[in-house]
Amino acid sequence: MAELPEITIFSRQMDEELNLKEFAEVDIVQEKILNMDKTEFAELIKGKKVIGVYNKGKWIFTELSDDYYLLLNLGMGTDLFYHQKGQKWPEEYQIRFSFIDGTGFSCRFWWIGRSELVSNKELIQHKATKDIAISPLDPDFTLDHFKNLIKGRSQIKNLILNQRKIGGIGNVYIHDILFKAKIHPQKQANELESTQIEDLYEIMIENLSNALDKGGLYYEKDFHGKEYGFTRDYFSVAYNEEKPCPLCGTIIEKIKTGNTSSYICPQCQQL
Ligand SMILES: [Zn+2]
Repeated sequence: MAELPEITIFSRQMDEELNLKEFAEVDIVQEKILNMDKTEFAELIKGKKVIGVYNKGKWIFTELSDDYYLLLNLGMGTDLFYHQKGQKWPEEYQIRFSFIDGTGFSCRFWWIGRSELVSNKELIQHKATKDIAISPLDPDFTLDHFKNLIKGRSQIKNLILNQRKIGGIGNVYIHDILFKAKIHPQKQANELESTQIEDLYEIMIENLSNALDKGGLYYEKDFHGKEYGFTRDYFSVAYNEEKPCPLCGTIIEKIKTGNTSSYICPQCQQL
């Protein structure tokens, strides 16, 4: 699943590569990923230029000329590939965009994804993105900000995964973040001690920055089709059920936490 590090890498690469390119045409295979009729979508994007690309949580925002935005959501994962002039397009995609200079990019969503065109005005009211919270990699994500977020009564894992509170963390990086902070995923947030909150805050940022430095999760590829370098070896308890805990040797367990699974060391992370 593409999470904050992977989405951040995509946005940075797209920002670098697509600057000021002008859309020529769009080939849409799967209309349901759009927020409008496909003919309308193709007509609307034609002639618009890319101003800049950034992400907000797990959404990629491409700012276009004429006060428009192209919004991409990669869902559980997506082959999002840049296309050089003259290069062969991937065989499978749900949507592909071509620029007037012959370059382009294509998206093959693994499961679900979105490609939406919205005006600046519509963006303010855009349901899926308007309430996305800032992410731990954002400079405004201070310790005080984090402390304010976790005042209420809610299980800590659910709270961290809630995109309206913290943007960008899904059910991959969360396991090792909680393990390193020695916190059980079902612990009530308002029962955490202040040192635990401080630890959690630092570990969250460190873990995501590290994944970003390594170039994201190994089973995903970047905008240039290059494999990411954050391999399984970097995981502590995540996806390591039945193996010994790297700290105490207790066997790591996979448990059900609401509608997600969690990997924990039952000794290091007690409820
Ligand atoms: Zn342990």
